[in-house]
Amino acid sequence: MLSSVQEKAMCNLCHGGKVVYHRVYSGEMLCRKCFVETFEKRVAKTIGRYGLLKRDDRIAVAVSGGKDSLSLLHVLKKIEKNFPQATLFAVTVDEGIPGYRDEALQYVEEVVQRLGVPLVKTSFEEAFGVPLNKIIESPSFKASGLAACSVCGPLRRRALNIAAKNAKATVIATAHTLDDIVQTYLLKAFRGELGSSDVGLRSEGPVIPRVAPFRLTPEREVVFYAYVVGLPFQTQVCPNASNTMRSPIRKFLTEFEEKHPGSLFAALKSFEKTSRTTEKNLNICVKCGEPTSRRTCRVCELLEMVTDTYHA
Ligand code: SF4
Repeated sequence: MLSSVQEKAMCNLCHGGKVVYHRVYSGEMLCRKCFVETFEKRVAKTIGRYGLLKRDDRIAVAVSGGKDSLSLLHVLKKIEKNFPQATLFAVTVDEGIPGYRDEALQYVEEVVQRLGVPLVKTSFEEAFGVPLNKIIESPSFKASGLAACSVCGPLRRRALNIAAKNAKATVIATAHTLDDIVQTYLLKAFRGELGSSDVGLRSEGPVIPRVAPFRLTPEREVVFYAYVVGLPFQTQVCPNASNTMRSPIRKFLTEFEEKHPGSLFAALKSFEKTSRTTEKNLNICVKCGEPTSRRTCRVCELLEMVTDTYHA
């Protein structure tokens, strides 16, 4: 929210446009044009600084229909124009959440059409033979004590990987923001897993690398970008959303950043200095053949746990 004084001020950068955004941590007061330009430049710089994308990549952009992923698709489509050898497509996963995912998919369709980006669709039904709503209704799921998100998350990542691999992607771009990345580092610290894997950085191996071009972009700015470039997006919350270990961390970090602007950038810097990735010994899952650090991967473990779903 801008104060009445800020609303009358002129942009710090071009000195001509009316202020629409106040970047509290840097003190910048920006007009619409300068906000969009600096936002997009930062994403391009993030990609260059961390080597997230290669000039000839085939990029699968994971889109859900929410503000973050559709903003990512929008900005990457612009950046892609400077890299004629690179190709880009959107990939989306229908978990099987009636009344929720169907609406999100409409936003995805609308934006890909507007941007002229090809869309690859997959679903839990296609990848695992069973939609999420059947899984969470099954007696074995109910008996497991698991939250819907604990099953949905790993299955969605796997479905995305399969679809990206089939479409010959060389990298998957996800819309994790600065806020998400710091939350993940903190979660890893609490689990004693710091250094077990990089968060949103490119690493080569048997799995298609996942990168986060919004690594240096606060979530608040992503929301504002979606708004100023006129992207339609889903605002409805998933009916299965549950409190996870991440929820209190997210709340704490959001409040802390509000009181102490710039803290998220400082935290990321510290994590990058102290978190050194150790080489992981990847095995091949004995059931599905996908790379895993265990004998049987988490996805197979989860599917086995809810096995009565298949016989319902
Ligand atoms: Fe899946 Fe949970 Fe996200 Fe809903 S909120 S789509 S259940 S991970």
